[in-house]
Amino acid sequence: MSQLVDSFGRKITYFRVSITDRCNYRCIYCQPEKEFKFIPHEEILRYEEIVEIIEEAVNLGVTKVRITGGEPLVRKGVVNFIKKLREIKKLEDISLTTNAFFLSEYAEKLKEAGLNRVNISLDSLQAEKYKKITRGGSLEKALKGIDSALKAGLLPIKINTVLIRGINDDEVEDFVRLALERPLNIRFIEFMPSGEEIINEFKNKFISVQKIKEKLIRKYLLNPIKISTANGPAKYYQIKGGQGTIGFITALSQHFCKTCNRIRLTSEGKLRPCLFSNTEVDIKQAIRKSARGKNEGFLRKKIIRDKLKEAVRLKPEGHKLNIKNQENLSFHMSRIGG
Ligand code: SAM
Repeated sequence: MSQLVDSFGRKITYFRVSITDRCNYRCIYCQPEKEFKFIPHEEILRYEEIVEIIEEAVNLGVTKVRITGGEPLVRKGVVNFIKKLREIKKLEDISLTTNAFFLSEYAEKLKEAGLNRVNISLDSLQAEKYKKITRGGSLEKALKGIDSALKAGLLPIKINTVLIRGINDDEVEDFVRLALERPLNIRFIEFMPSGEEIINEFKNKFISVQKIKEKLIRKYLLNPIKISTANGPAKYYQIKGGQGTIGFITALSQHFCKTCNRIRLTSEGKLRPCLFSNTEVDIKQAIRKSARGKNEGFLRKKIIRDKLKEAVRLKPEGHKLNIKNQENLSFHMSRIGG
C-alpha cells in the first residue's frame, strides 16, 4: 500500500491524536482564564472512529502514535482504547501525554493495556507555583504520578517543561538537578504563542530555550546523546554523573520543520497537517457520511485513507513563526493536542 509522503518528500510516520478537549487543569499558557467553551460530546470522535482512523494511518506507514488532549486520562474508557490500539499490527509505539494527576491510579493498567511510555507536563517544582500555573493543580499528585509511571515501566519518561520568563525560568537548574537524581528526560520547551488572550497576557514572556541551552552547556558537562524513542525535535544531553537527561525544544528560535514527520488529529475529528497552520481536513464528516451497506467497511477505509492523504498533501513546507514574528495564532493547544 502507498505511504504518506508530503509534497516536500517528508515521510509521515508519527500521528498525534487528541481524544478530548477537556482537561482537569487550565494551565495559564494553554487555556484562557475566562470561560472556555468545550466541544459538545456528540462532536467528539468516538473511540471506534479514532481506532479506524489510526488503523488506516498505520496501513499508510505510521508507526508511532501519541495520545493527548486536553487531558487524555479524563476521558472514560481510555484503558480499553489503548488495548484496541495495541491490537493494530505494525503500530510500534504508543505513548501518551498527561499532566499526571490521575497517573498513579492508571499507570499499571495502561502498561498492561499496551501503552509503551508517557510524557508528563511539569512546569514547576514548587507546590504553590505549580498550583498557580495549572490554576489549581497538585504538584504532589504529579510527582506521585511520575513515581507510578517509573514503577510501571512506562519508559522512557519525558518531562515537558514550558519555560516562561519571570514565571519558572528561575527553576531551570532545579530541573537539571531532577535529571541528575532521577532517570527522567527533562525537556525545556519554548512557549508558543497561541490564542489571543494568552498572547496578550504573555507579551514579552517568551524565553529562548536555545539561549538556556547555551548557558547550561557552559556550566555542566553535557554529552549529546540519542534516545531510542526520540527522533523528534528535541536534542538530548546526558549530564555527567546523572541518571536522566535534559533536552531542548526550540519551536520558535530554531525550526525543525525540515524533519517534521507528524500530522495531528483533533478530538473533533479534524486532521491538522501542521500545528502552526490553521489548515484542517474534516475526516469526521467524511466517515460519518460514508455509505452504509455491504461495501461499508471497504469504502470507509478508502475514505479514511483518502482524507489522510489529502491532509498530508496540504502539509506546508514550514511555519514562519520566529522570536520576532509571533503572529497571532488563534488555536488553543488544548483543542489541537500538544
Ligand atoms: N493535558 C496533557 C498535559 O498536560 O500534558 C496533554 C495536553 S497538553 C495541551 C500537551 C502539551 O502541550 C503539554 O506538555 C503543554 O505543556 C504543551 N503546551 C500547551 N500550550 C503550550 C504553549 N502555548 N506553548 C508550549 N507548549 C504548550
